[in-house]
Amino acid sequence: MASYRIPFGKPFIVGKELEYIAQAVTLGHLSGDHEFTRRCHQWLEQTLGAKRALLTHSCTAALEMAALLCDVGPGDEVVMPSFTFASTASAFALRGACPVFVDIRADTLNLDERLLEAACGPKTRVVVVMHYGGVACNMKAICDLARARGLLVVEDAAHAFLAKGNGRTLGTIGDLGCFSFHETKNVISGEGGAILVQAPELVERAEIIWEKGTNRRAFFRGEVDKYTWVDLGSSFLPSELTAAFLYAQLEHAQEITDRRRELCRQYRERLLELERQGHVSLPFMPEDCVTSGHVFYLLVRAPDDRRALLKHLQERGILAVSHYVPLHSSPAGRRYGRTPAALPVTDRVSETLVRLPLYYHMTDAELEQVCEAVRGYFSGES
Ligand SMILES: *Cc1c(COP(=O)(O)O)cnc(C)c1O
Repeated sequence: MASYRIPFGKPFIVGKELEYIAQAVTLGHLSGDHEFTRRCHQWLEQTLGAKRALLTHSCTAALEMAALLCDVGPGDEVVMPSFTFASTASAFALRGACPVFVDIRADTLNLDERLLEAACGPKTRVVVVMHYGGVACNMKAICDLARARGLLVVEDAAHAFLAKGNGRTLGTIGDLGCFSFHETKNVISGEGGAILVQAPELVERAEIIWEKGTNRRAFFRGEVDKYTWVDLGSSFLPSELTAAFLYAQLEHAQEITDRRRELCRQYRERLLELERQGHVSLPFMPEDCVTSGHVFYLLVRAPDDRRALLKHLQERGILAVSHYVPLHSSPAGRRYGRTPAALPVTDRVSETLVRLPLYYHMTDAELEQVCEAVRGYFSGES
């Protein structure tokens, strides 16, 4: 990739990452589920308020665990937004279930809960939500409907680490919550993720699926006297090296999040005038919502505008980017999914959304340079 004066994102170190990796080596265990994994689990359970947290290799792996825990298969349908990452759908399609794509709200860009009822039928088993940019979905309406219909709710909370909606921590509201610690996310470990299990009846099975379908964890706790294959599963646990890096980041997770929120606040303040002039829409922030500051985006008026703006920024050494190709129009989405109704908001947003650079070590001066370049574009500078 070309190098930019201001990249879109940047992996970073904040604390004791390298020291903890060295410690993990000294402690003598590099496979998963030892000291640093335990510390991460405890941190996640206590800070987020989860019944059970399990580290995974990725959010993709966490979603695959969720699909296994939901026990879906051929003939089952899983309702989800089309405006999300491929893994949200692929995890369920891997089980043979059919993703059913629903449109998003024009304000939060999250699954439109008003369309949910119509999308659910006798085959529906699960609703998957994704909190875009770390802004909460309307979880109350979604969970009420799911409960009334006996559906499970899975939160793809890859954007939403430490975010809240209605006073509740995202990723802990549904039955299962999936997080990513990929280097492009807020808190990172290179590749990495976690699943949070809220439904008590799913906790034991989650541990089994996590450990290759064996009852190894129960065995080490002395609950069973033999350790054997008892269910489907895979090797979902990351090594201690990953957990050690992650734990160092978790120790600074609040600081990282605060800085990202502050950068978002500054973007908003400095670009508000462009919204007043009708050039762009800025991210909508529901009042009862505390964002993770994962994404700061602009919605421009037309696809051509986006192409020209991205080019204008690129020429000034700034990498801004679009986001998801809607899953309902993707090759695999057409093959494995179903789209019962038109998705006009998803189509429009996917063609007009621009994400601006945002990373923990971004300086106020860098942010101002981005804003200046954006303002320059709309004032017709070339
Ligand atoms: C990043 C992301 C994922 C996948 O995360 P990995 O940890 O890379 O597997 C899934 N869903 C959403 C919404 C994401 O942004």
